[in-house]
Amino acid sequence: MKIIIISNRLPVKIVEENNELKLIKSEGGLATGLGSLETKREKHWLGWSGMHITDEGQKADINKQMEELKFHPVYLTPNQIKNYYEGYSNSTIWPLCHYFYSYIGSNNNYWESYKEVNALFCEAALKIIEPGDIVWVQDYQLMLLPAMIREKVKDVSIGYFHHIPFPSYEMFRVLPERAEILRGLLGADLVAFHTYDYMRHFISTVYRVLGYECILDEVQLEDRIVEVDAFPMGINYDLFHDAILRPEVQEKAMELKEGFGDNKIILSVDRLDYSKGILMRLKGFIKFLKHNPEYHGKVSLVMIVVPSRDTVGTYAKLRTRINEFIGGINGKYSTLSWTPVYYFYRAFSFEELTAMYYLADIALVTPLRDGMNLVAKEYIAAKRDKPGVLILSEMAGAVIELSDSIVVNPNNSKEIEDAIVKALEMPEKEQLENLKKLQEIVSTQTVKQWATDFITELKSIKELNNQRF
Ligand code: UDP
Repeated sequence: MKIIIISNRLPVKIVEENNELKLIKSEGGLATGLGSLETKREKHWLGWSGMHITDEGQKADINKQMEELKFHPVYLTPNQIKNYYEGYSNSTIWPLCHYFYSYIGSNNNYWESYKEVNALFCEAALKIIEPGDIVWVQDYQLMLLPAMIREKVKDVSIGYFHHIPFPSYEMFRVLPERAEILRGLLGADLVAFHTYDYMRHFISTVYRVLGYECILDEVQLEDRIVEVDAFPMGINYDLFHDAILRPEVQEKAMELKEGFGDNKIILSVDRLDYSKGILMRLKGFIKFLKHNPEYHGKVSLVMIVVPSRDTVGTYAKLRTRINEFIGGINGKYSTLSWTPVYYFYRAFSFEELTAMYYLADIALVTPLRDGMNLVAKEYIAAKRDKPGVLILSEMAGAVIELSDSIVVNPNNSKEIEDAIVKALEMPEKEQLENLKKLQEIVSTQTVKQWATDFITELKSIKELNNQRF
């Protein structure tokens, strides 16, 4: 018997080397959580290969390499990527779930393509599913898949995890396809979210759209129950906590320290996304500079923005706005010996990123909406026993566990300004006390724990349903 993870992307990158395609495994959070899951079952992974390959020989070669890793690639056409991935997933569902109503784009091809690709994933899954398997579907690109699989196979446990916020009924109801999406999700035995708030929104939406009652977090269907629960996803704590012990990370940290000198460092790390609140954060920082001249020359904001979806119009515009904002700040306040904002529009390596976490005096994490936000947790872990302060948005899922940080409303630039001053003035003893409390939580709720809890609960629901029906 197997555990089969199904996600939009496989955790691999295909690269071309000397005219040959090679696979490079990428160790994201989910891959780590799953890798560390203690189970006798074989672990398989099904998802989009990430590359459009037309040459049949190359495809066969890649398939062979994938098979060795127990990966099962799904190949999508450029048109499917445009309409299912960039379209329905990232231009309709993403803004909807992050409460960016006016950013929702729609087009007839989006929904058709979303259904088509979910069916394609289903077809690929049916080729490998055997009775007794556990299937764990990941995220908003595949919300129709649980019901599609259930329709075809009965003796299988299906779990679904939603990695982004689930919005309130008032927002979700605007979606023309709301009922189909909810029916798709209810094909699972367990539907799970990062927080109780998202879970409650889902339950009330199911009731109001489909009329199904929910008793004690169980949606009552005619022939079975669907459990709804919250599992906050964590990180590989030891990896980040111990990063600074590696010589190459220490070297990076020393190099960076030399560059920044004695300046206090405020760090922000995000993918390019309007949900991350980057412009509001810059507004908060502008206010801080304006009202606190005593900190000029002493504090710098290091802003790492990882390129993402910049073929989509709203993302390209956001990138331009960020450039303008930062240009404006640096143009106005820079001196020969001080740069207020260091801006990097590129991905950092693990070594660079963890060195930055370790060095940063303050992490400024202010998304307008975020399902969880792992950067906040990684910062806490990577600080080890060096003082540091986390400023965290009340709109990030992570705030439920990390309430010992300085919590701000990310829409209020004055609150961001005040939080920066508070963090800069916080005595080291208090910083270390808070950090310790936060580290206790982040080191307990790891990604391994998250995956274990999810699978344990999924198994128990199967038994419960067998007894009741
Ligand atoms: N990250 C990265 N390289 C970078 C910056 C960030 O790999 O240069 C990673 C970071 O370590 C974190 C993830 O990107 O694990 C961002 O996750 P988060 O939950 O904060 O936001 P998401 O991008 O999933 O919305």
